[in-house]
Amino acid sequence: MEVPFLDLKKAYIELKSELDQLWHDINKDSFYVLGSRLEKFEKEFADYLGVKHVIGVADGLDALNLSIRALNIGSGDEVIVPSHTYIASWLAVSEAGAIPVPVEVDETTYLIDPSKIEQAITAKTKAIMVVHLYGLVCDMQPIKNIANKYKLKIIEDSAQAHGAFDLSSGIKAGALGDISGFSFYPGKNLGCFGDGGCISTNDDILAEKLILLRNYGSKKRYEHEVIGINSRLDELQAGILSIKLKYLDKWNKRRQELAKIYLDELKNVAELILPEYNDGHVWHVFAIRTSKRDDLKEFLASKGIATIIHYPKPIYLQDAYKYMEIKNGSFETTEKISSEILSLPIGPHLDKEDAKSVSQAIKEFFNKDQ
Ligand SMILES: *Cc1c(COP(=O)(O)O)cnc(C)c1O
Repeated sequence: MEVPFLDLKKAYIELKSELDQLWHDINKDSFYVLGSRLEKFEKEFADYLGVKHVIGVADGLDALNLSIRALNIGSGDEVIVPSHTYIASWLAVSEAGAIPVPVEVDETTYLIDPSKIEQAITAKTKAIMVVHLYGLVCDMQPIKNIANKYKLKIIEDSAQAHGAFDLSSGIKAGALGDISGFSFYPGKNLGCFGDGGCISTNDDILAEKLILLRNYGSKKRYEHEVIGINSRLDELQAGILSIKLKYLDKWNKRRQELAKIYLDELKNVAELILPEYNDGHVWHVFAIRTSKRDDLKEFLASKGIATIIHYPKPIYLQDAYKYMEIKNGSFETTEKISSEILSLPIGPHLDKEDAKSVSQAIKEFFNKDQ
């Protein structure tokens, strides 16, 4: 058996005729940066999310970093971040010159624990960055209440949550805070053919600023209003994303069907902790938990089943953040998650039969142990 973690080639094959036509058309115009294809995609994705503005940028890290800069958050300011996330969430804060202040995550959702946010707020706190990790939207109402009380901005890291929505309001990730960053890295639920990202917001002033920031601080050629950077989503990637956006809901639905298969097949395995199903979850990652994680990973690999650990080492224990002097043991839930979590293959092109075979192999692993 060979079950890859994610099969991107099948996505290309499904859309081959549209994508090949795009390549042909782009080379006919030979217009590659900041053109009509980007404008079209920005409008389409804004409509999809239910926001006023989408601004394409070079990648997800830039999307978050520029969002922070647009909010005038910088040197000496603090931004609350979850202790368990991909390092880019923290790096975006650091790159803006601000300080990421970690808050523990919830043991069942793996998302920032709203009840622990307030104690991390200081006079320097300017924003709360929520990360809709694995494709599940954070518990927004209590977070909004805190943000209102302390006059903090809410930045969403939606890099794993294209199409995910809040169950109570139906509002999509990317439309739940003041500003949001998305990544279109190839493996994300909506991915392009290389690096890409965007920012979404309902705020006209922030959108104006971001249009300057991403393009050398310039709206009019050779007029530079602010110190900007070069971070643009090129025409080819925008064209690819316009094509793929039409399939996002269908592909997310497929992920949900696969998640249901895993949850059903594995529900009686006593040694596993499984995620909870909900209709707003888009399953960028399907993560199970077990204290026998490393052995299980190895066993599955021996059967040709690829798994990944998201993420094996807490960010505050990485050398990059050693200067913060946050000790081992500081965030018990995060450390437990890091040592026990395992992501199973999932994606819009994974066969349902393969999800069953993966489940079978997991059951075999636990049965042989007894
Ligand atoms: C992928 C990802 C990012 C960064 O996106 P890039 O496009 O790789 O820069 C940020 N945050 C989270 C949670 C991610 O998964």
